[in-house]
Amino acid sequence: MSETMSPIERFHAAMENNPIDRVSLAPVTQTGTTALMEKCGAYWPEAHKDPKLMAQLSWAAYEYGGLEGVRIPFYVYTEAEATGAKLSKWKKKNHPVVDVPSVPNLEAIDKLEIPDPKKDGRMPQILEAIKILVPKCKQEKLPIITSVIAPLTMTLNAGVTDAMQSMLWWAKNPNEMDKLIKKTLEIGLVWAEAAYEAGSDTIFYNGAFDASVTPDDYEKRVIRYHIEGVRKLKEMGAYVVYHSCMDISPVIDKLPRLEAHAISVSQEMDMAKAREIVGENVILAGNVDPTYTLIKKSPEEVLEESKYCIDAGTDILCPGCGYGPNTPLENMTALAQAGREYGHNARLAKKN
Ligand SMILES: [Zn+2]
Repeated sequence: MSETMSPIERFHAAMENNPIDRVSLAPVTQTGTTALMEKCGAYWPEAHKDPKLMAQLSWAAYEYGGLEGVRIPFYVYTEAEATGAKLSKWKKKNHPVVDVPSVPNLEAIDKLEIPDPKKDGRMPQILEAIKILVPKCKQEKLPIITSVIAPLTMTLNAGVTDAMQSMLWWAKNPNEMDKLIKKTLEIGLVWAEAAYEAGSDTIFYNGAFDASVTPDDYEKRVIRYHIEGVRKLKEMGAYVVYHSCMDISPVIDKLPRLEAHAISVSQEMDMAKAREIVGENVILAGNVDPTYTLIKKSPEEVLEESKYCIDAGTDILCPGCGYGPNTPLENMTALAQAGREYGHNARLAKKN
């Protein structure tokens, strides 16, 4: 099958619901794996911290993994670190853990400050990495995808709060939680704007905790902030991929109202079912299982599941969540191979 589009043209066309030559292979979720670290010589934890190594490791997903874009950072604690969270256990094969969240108690909500991306936490290093990647991505026509945490997820976790504690606050202290969700909206937008200005064309807006509150709470206490967040990201000029995690079935019917360019669907939801719920006007990304299929199964099985996702209606072929650090390289390349060999069967390619 002949290819007529560059990776960035294909990815952006998909997000505009326009015809494409084959499925997009843009890596919207995190791509740091130990196999790629060994290939490119940039290892965690240094590649979380040093701009050159960060750029090198994200580039490796394109160079060795066959994915069509770069995605940084690799962890979910950018906003948390920039607002004072303390992390530890920086390891080669695992994400760091949160020792002290930015908001350890309710009193800290009023003191929580909007970070300055030029100087706070690791934001300056990530921006530097984006700037290193810009000319390389321009040359190879690749998108640059940066992760930003959506308001509810930053309110309930992501190193800004402790998930156990925040769920109690969510039930007992709705006014304080409302104050916090407003601040997290602003924190995410300030960070996203800096990333976009540095050269990132796409924001991966991480709504991992959307299914952890009731659909009623989501409607009354959350969705307006997510709608506002997506609208402001789009006004900046960014493409927005909204990420859902866990079993999103309780709220997936509400997600199209956010009007993100695409929804990244967790592997816990069947792609055909997700497509049936959202209809033909919503762009979906996903959702090969990153923990079971991509880490534990064979390349042939990755190929089969990738084909299933394409036939079931995905527009961007990628895992349902971040690549686990232990993903074998041959499984990452099997996903890419499925997209190249079978991607002309994708929904939007059939419109071509
Ligand atoms: Zn996820």
